[in-house]
Parts: sequence; structure tokens; C-alpha cells
Amino acid sequence: MNIVELQQAEKNYQGVEALKSINLSLQQGEVLGLFGHNGAGKTTTIKLILGLIKPTAGQVRVFGEDPTGENAYHLRRQLGFLQENVSFYQQMTGHEVLAYFAKLKGCEKKQVNDLLEEVGLAHAAMRRVKTYSKGMRQRLGLAQALLGQPKLLLLDEPTVGLDPIATQDFYQGIARLKAQGSTIILCSHVLAGVEKYIDRALILGQGHLLAEGSLSTLTEQTNLPVTFHLQGSNLLLPASLQANASEINGGLKLHVSQQQKMATLQQLLALPSLENIDIHMPSLEDIYMHYMNDIQHMELPR
Ligand code: ATP
Repeated sequence: MNIVELQQAEKNYQGVEALKSINLSLQQGEVLGLFGHNGAGKTTTIKLILGLIKPTAGQVRVFGEDPTGENAYHLRRQLGFLQENVSFYQQMTGHEVLAYFAKLKGCEKKQVNDLLEEVGLAHAAMRRVKTYSKGMRQRLGLAQALLGQPKLLLLDEPTVGLDPIATQDFYQGIARLKAQGSTIILCSHVLAGVEKYIDRALILGQGHLLAEGSLSTLTEQTNLPVTFHLQGSNLLLPASLQANASEINGGLKLHVSQQQKMATLQQLLALPSLENIDIHMPSLEDIYMHYMNDIQHMELPR
């Protein structure tokens, strides 16, 4: 059974076509990165999966059931959700907030201390939320989302406000949850560093599914070039490479197709004047920018 299944799912909000014919299936233990520009339809997709809204057309299934149907209450106990711009009751302590949500979700109270420890908030557990920094509130939001060891976790901009170490801790936490069998949907505008933690990416543009697949599939599909940065005095490239090279910061930048990478590398290493070489493979950011540039030239049906 697929944990999440969207079939030709569409959502219109009084004339705004927020999502058009989206197909998606997610299996247990998969981590999906959901990306797209502002207003692309990411939050709408998450709301459909949470059962907060119904699709205008098509079908949404979570654990094989309609998330807005009769069983939705039981189904939601298996979900964890961190919304964008999380906010809590300011006068309560972190511990009280989490204990309150644990009660709402019907989970054991002993998880509260463990989760506060896990997100690095144990030292501030008895302080009121109004004294928390932005990053501390975000960590509390994460702890709230992890209550009840959810089988499906939806995280909207989870690393906003987290410092680099906390961001790294967060992604390591994602890897642990995946290893325990949780399915995770991660929605983010911050692409750097995400790639090694996701199995697949889904890129939305103006409510349309622009691309979906593993990073290697998308890298192959986009056929974005590999870039070499070369340093050396009086570097003279073989004639066959010169057309794709340009000068940059006292060195040379060279673009070649992915298929030509190894052959080019061998040619470059044979150059006596080569002193240094950096190789840049297409990143998730490059892939994302490729599809974003594409939608400016595409006539998308609305
Ligand atoms: P962001 O990155 O800015 O959070 P998003 O990808 O999450 O954007 P959505 O919030 O899903 O985008 O919005 C998709 C489209 O639907 C936008 O055009 C938005 O204005 C519209 N929309 C969302 N909610 C409503 C609503 N309740 N009523 C009318 N239009 C809405």
C-alpha cells in the first residue's frame, strides 16, 4: 500500500487554480522533497494530504484512505505536521506546550521530555515560550511534529530559523526517522544541503508538476553540464574544448556534458600547465533553477 497517493488531484480556490492534475505516490520510508516558487502549490498539496481541504477533482489517499473521510480522526494520529511560521501559546512553558499537544494527540506524556531532549530544548523546558528565540520555537515545533512517532511526517519549511548545527542535527534526525520506517515530505525553499537526505524531489510550478524523480533521474533528464574550474599559468586547452571555455577569476571555466566528463578530465589532467581543478556537478539548486527557467517559456494550460 502506498502511504500517500494523489491521482490527478486538483484544487481550485474560488477561481484560483492552485493545483492542476497532480500524480504522486509515496511508499513507506521514502523522503520526498517538495519544491516550488512562492504560490506554486506546496502548502495546498500538504493541506490535501492532511485532509484540511478536499480536492476539487481527482483523488487523495493517505494510508489507503480518504484523509477527509470518516476515519480521518484515527488517520491523523499517525501524522506529524510542522507548519510554516509555527506559533505557540506564549505564556506556557515549552514543556507545557508539548504536554498539551501530547494530550490532544493521545500520546504518552513521557515522550515530552525525550523529545525536548532530542531537539536540544531540555535546558529551556521550564521557560515560557515568549522567552524563546526564533530557532528555539522552531525546535519546539519539530518536537510537536514528532509526537506519537508519526508514520507520515509533513514538514513545511522545517529549517527556517535554525542555525547551521541545528539544521544538520535536524537532517540527521530525518535520516533516523526514515531508517525507522517513517515517510517524510519536506517542503523547503532552502535547497542547499537537502539533496543527500531526500530520495525524490517533486518540483511544482504554477500549480503544475514540472518534474518528479530521484536526483540522478532529474540530473539525467535536465542534462545540465558539468563545470570545471581550472587554474594554471598560460593554460592552453585542446582546440576541441576551447569553444566551451571562458575566463573567470584568473582561471578558466569549462562546461561539458555529463557524458563527456571522464574523457574531458583525462584530457585536462594531461595538461602540463594545469595547477588546480574543481569539478561542479549539477546540484539540486541547478536542477530547480533549470525547471524554473523553463516555466517562463512554457505555455502551461490554466
Ligand atoms: P509559498 O512558498 O509562498 O508558501 P505555496 O507553494 O505553498 O507558496 P500555496 O499556499 O499552496 O503555495 O498557494 C498556491 C496558490 O493558491 C497561490 O496562488 C495562492 O494565492 C492560492 N491560495 C492558497 N490558499 C488560498 C485560499 N484559501 N483562497 C484563495 N487562494 C488561495
